[in-house]
Amino acid sequence: MSATLELARELIRHPSLTPHDTGCLDVISRRLATLGFTLERFDHAGVSNLWARKGSAAPLLCFAGHTDVVPTGPEERWRHPPFAAMVDDGKLYGRGAADMKGGIAAFVVALEDFLAASPKHAGSIALLLTSDEEGPAEHGTLRVVDALLARGERITWCLVGEPSSGARLGDTLRHGRRGSLSATLTVHGVQGHVAYPDLADNPVHRLAPALAELIATRWDDGDDDFPATGLQVSNLNAGTGAGNVIPGHATLRFNFRHGPASPAATLIRQSEALFARHDIHGHWQWRSGGEPFVSRPDALARALQAAIAAETGLRPAHSTGGGTSDGRFIKRIAGEVIEFGLRNDSIHQIDECVALADLDALSAIYRRTLATLLAGK
Ligand SMILES: [Zn+2]
Repeated sequence: MSATLELARELIRHPSLTPHDTGCLDVISRRLATLGFTLERFDHAGVSNLWARKGSAAPLLCFAGHTDVVPTGPEERWRHPPFAAMVDDGKLYGRGAADMKGGIAAFVVALEDFLAASPKHAGSIALLLTSDEEGPAEHGTLRVVDALLARGERITWCLVGEPSSGARLGDTLRHGRRGSLSATLTVHGVQGHVAYPDLADNPVHRLAPALAELIATRWDDGDDDFPATGLQVSNLNAGTGAGNVIPGHATLRFNFRHGPASPAATLIRQSEALFARHDIHGHWQWRSGGEPFVSRPDALARALQAAIAAETGLRPAHSTGGGTSDGRFIKRIAGEVIEFGLRNDSIHQIDECVALADLDALSAIYRRTLATLLAGK
């Protein structure tokens, strides 16, 4: 059994449902302490956060990730119990196998191999790990970044080990992410009998033309890094359940995935103005899930690309797709932030799994990347 597989299995056996770390960071900390890392915990509000650094010289290469996992769903539907870390047919099964305990294991083992081979490497190495990435992400990476910012600690290159690959390991890396913005609009009318509409005010009828315009709006054209901003309606609720009652209010929820061409403040202003033009003055609630970020691909992206080519023969596409990630927080203190990791086709699903060959190939890619960026004299 490879060292990466062994560590990934150990981490999966800790049922670290977000935001609980359940000892994963202790497992990792013991190995990092052996390697000579200085360990600092920034635990807060039930969230576990680790900043581990070895060396003080620039440049600093930081690996970032999370130990928490999303819920399993019905356990009886899993081929193997989600926290048993079973190996079957060349794959490791378990919640977090791909997102992202496999990635953490690959990096820790890459680090051990690299330090054994190159004890006199240049620069320094850090790990930033949290147990609050899958949840609200309020007390996780953000907290550590605030603490580092306050004491002027900067990261040269941050490699986020999230599962970025698609059909094949190595086909995609991410140099940014779109922002996420959610709205809830409650429109009040007057409830009444459907046979007496003059005595009522139907909020659905008032909402419909505005909603049609909202959906048809082109918010921006995107740019070289980002696709055009998109909007999806996630919930639309009204009515009492009875067939002869005009509803008294309607609630509409929608979400933007947006690029820098449309900042959250602009989308909020435009959306509220659109409904106001239709004479709809409902109650708005907005929640930003993070502004977009983009990182110019530079030395880290080049080192990763060369390592990916050497291990897989692939040339990764650069993408800003997917959901939000902690990269948005890290960008504030880092020169270059690139996400690269395992395939994402089973993440958050029943039977989440990773190919054993991918675990070892990813560790080799990380090791080559370390060797390229921190080559000693
Ligand atoms: Zn993840």
